[in-house]
Amino acid sequence: MDRPVDRPVDRRSEELAANLEGVHRRIADAATAAGRDAGEITLVVVTKYFPESDVRRLAELGVRHVGENRHQEAAAKAEACADLGLTWHFIGSLQSNKAAAVARYAGVVESVDRAKLVAGLDRGSHERGSEEPLDCLAQVSLDEPGAPGRSGAPPGDVLDLAARIAEHPSLRLRGVMAVAPLGRPPAPAFERLAEVAAGVRAAHPAATWISAGMSQDLEEAIEHGATHVRVGSAILGPRPVIK
Ligand SMILES: *Cc1c(COP(=O)(O)O)cnc(C)c1O
Repeated sequence: MDRPVDRPVDRRSEELAANLEGVHRRIADAATAAGRDAGEITLVVVTKYFPESDVRRLAELGVRHVGENRHQEAAAKAEACADLGLTWHFIGSLQSNKAAAVARYAGVVESVDRAKLVAGLDRGSHERGSEEPLDCLAQVSLDEPGAPGRSGAPPGDVLDLAARIAEHPSLRLRGVMAVAPLGRPPAPAFERLAEVAAGVRAAHPAATWISAGMSQDLEEAIEHGATHVRVGSAILGPRPVIK
């Protein structure tokens, strides 16, 4: 294709376009292998640690959903990129005193891992003055019980958490989210997540989303029913180290 001569080549945009194409192909292949329609799978591009300029490039390449895991960084980027009309997915661990603030810019809060967050999310959802409720996912821990460090509600607590989210008209329970456990094969964990998701859906028929799968394991997640994959490094490259 000819490029207008007065437009400088943006190597970063070319790199992002190629990576994005590769990820779309992986999603399509995984959907085909699972007998699913790729159109039912939403790509959330995780832009954490990367600058506003990359978010703009991605938007130009057709990306509509972006994910961030740290409130301050997410708030600043969402404000700077407000003109792009993107949907911001908050995917990080959330302090209860930040929940209301996150609800003001996020379109989806994927990391609701305890009932204590619900009051703040409800307040923030009202404060943003939108007619639409705030989409929320219950984050499920797929780690061994007692494993240190990673967030998510234990599977046995997820129905209670889902009920707490669902009782607020300002919040819309959409389903579940999880991160595969470190150092173990992802497939059994995603199978477990699918069971938890089915339990939530039985109680809340509209809660059909399963957000699972990242750069390393999106194929296994799609095989086990993921409706949303959250992909960072396979598109943006290795994350800069931030202390
Ligand atoms: C960073 C992050 C991702 C993306 O991880 P990659 O391996 O870079 O694709 C997905 N989900 C969550 C919760 C994250 O924090």
